[in-house]
Amino acid sequence: MARVEIDAHDSDDRWRWVCPNGHCSWEPTNHHFWCRQCASSHADVDPEFSELVDATTRESYARDEVKIKDYRRKTA
Ligand SMILES: [Zn+2]
Repeated sequence: MARVEIDAHDSDDRWRWVCPNGHCSWEPTNHHFWCRQCASSHADVDPEFSELVDATTRESYARDEVKIKDYRRKTA
């Protein structure tokens, strides 16, 4: 059951929701999230993460608690 709905094309939502390392360059996948900035960092960081962080409250939300507006499930 989704607790929040995020419009990934809305810049306010993009700034509000961040990966566990504070980046807003994440993308949703079917079961996780993936962060472009983590993926391109040279540190030993896993670019896949399971909980998205609300930068205003520091609360984190699992993938199934987050509804991404207009997100279409990828079949792969
Ligand atoms: Zn990141």
